[in-house]
Amino acid sequence: MLLRHTTKDVAERSALTVNPAKTCQPIGAMYAALGIHGCLPHSHGSQGCCAYHRSTLTRHYKEPVMAATSSFTEGSSVFGGQSNLLQAINNMFTIYEPEVVAVHTTCLSETIGDDIVQIADKANEKGSIPAGKYVIHANTPSYVGSHVTGFSNMTKAMVSYFASPSDDKLRTINIVPGWVEPADMRHIKMLCKDMSVDTIMFPDTSDVLDAPQTGSHEMYPKGGVTVSQLKRIGKSQATIALGETASADAAKELDVKCKVPFEVMELPIGLKATDRFINSLRKVARVEVPESITNSRGKLVDMITDMHQYLHGKRVALWGDPDQLVSLTEFLVDLDMKPVYIFTGTPGKKFLERTEKALQGKVPEAKVRQGANADMFLMHQWIKNEPVDLLIGNTYGKYIARDEDIPFIRHGFPIMDRVGHSYFPTVGYCGAMRFLEKMINTLLDRKDRDAPEESFELTL
Ligand code: SF4
Repeated sequence: MLLRHTTKDVAERSALTVNPAKTCQPIGAMYAALGIHGCLPHSHGSQGCCAYHRSTLTRHYKEPVMAATSSFTEGSSVFGGQSNLLQAINNMFTIYEPEVVAVHTTCLSETIGDDIVQIADKANEKGSIPAGKYVIHANTPSYVGSHVTGFSNMTKAMVSYFASPSDDKLRTINIVPGWVEPADMRHIKMLCKDMSVDTIMFPDTSDVLDAPQTGSHEMYPKGGVTVSQLKRIGKSQATIALGETASADAAKELDVKCKVPFEVMELPIGLKATDRFINSLRKVARVEVPESITNSRGKLVDMITDMHQYLHGKRVALWGDPDQLVSLTEFLVDLDMKPVYIFTGTPGKKFLERTEKALQGKVPEAKVRQGANADMFLMHQWIKNEPVDLLIGNTYGKYIARDEDIPFIRHGFPIMDRVGHSYFPTVGYCGAMRFLEKMINTLLDRKDRDAPEESFELTL
């Protein structure tokens, strides 16, 4: 009973969050920055922020995450961090030789009001930024938004710093994948390749945060979108932005700056969302859907048909990032499951409306919460009052799962106590099959555990 103080009685709270369903903006900025090839993320703040953000990413991806820090002391907290950042930029390019330094701010440097553009200009005047190398930045105060906001801000910065308008258009389609796993990014690229669509994906953390073990340490693994690719995104035919919260701002910025039309779609998690993504690719690139993709879809439909009986009517509690939640909700509803509690700590417009649409009017009892009042404590209280059959969310749900004895599938960020999430996709038809497999097997394990002797079946 680790959460023994969670009561069944729900008291309205307006100024207290207990176990928020979100984390810091800079973590997202750091993750996005790692999706640029040869990029060294830099945290403009105190060492503690950087250590926390790096360790969270390292624990989730099981990879060493490199990032530098301005190492604020009491002096920088009072007088500002300009001299620390100037020194840091010089050190980073001299010692670690990155292609790009991606600076993000923290609560402290935002409160002081450090002007990163002015400091980077000064570093350039001093000759600390070698020719052909870049310093980009995103403002990521953690007292607003969440890790997803930070991801979105750094992705938008890639457009602001590198894209340039051109009448000379290429055949490429930009894909802004949103905050998904490296394996998801790889799978989306593979689907595009199978459809013969030339793409530029940004950011792209595949082969960065799921790089193979080669026996030698690579400071900059081979993956990531390159600077030369980022310089070409303004020449692409169109942009497909996956996930309103994480990707729409970058796509809009590119349209404003370079007149590249865009479409914002939900993440391709589940049958319908993947159908829409494939259809959109087909239309925008004017290509046919190959048989291999049609076959994958057929397998998913077959699996749903075979196992639907074990999913029907199951009540589920979901928490995590808005873009993931909307697509998952739609998928669960299509499986005739009941996502009854849906929680995200990430603020932002349209989430409630998008979730409502994903629920398709089929789960009238569903309760959706967003923002500071959407915390794990409240979700636990609701579960105590009206239990669920399955929990789906990040590692922080394990306490509720244990206390309430509810089957639990880890999904989202962060997952610090299991493996596999960064290697196996949940997007696309194959990803949906993997997600289904996890749900069905988890529910069947529980059925076996609880079955009385006389109905303990060999074949399910
Ligand atoms: S909340 Fe602010 S001060 Fe705390 S770790 Fe995050 S960025 Fe740093």
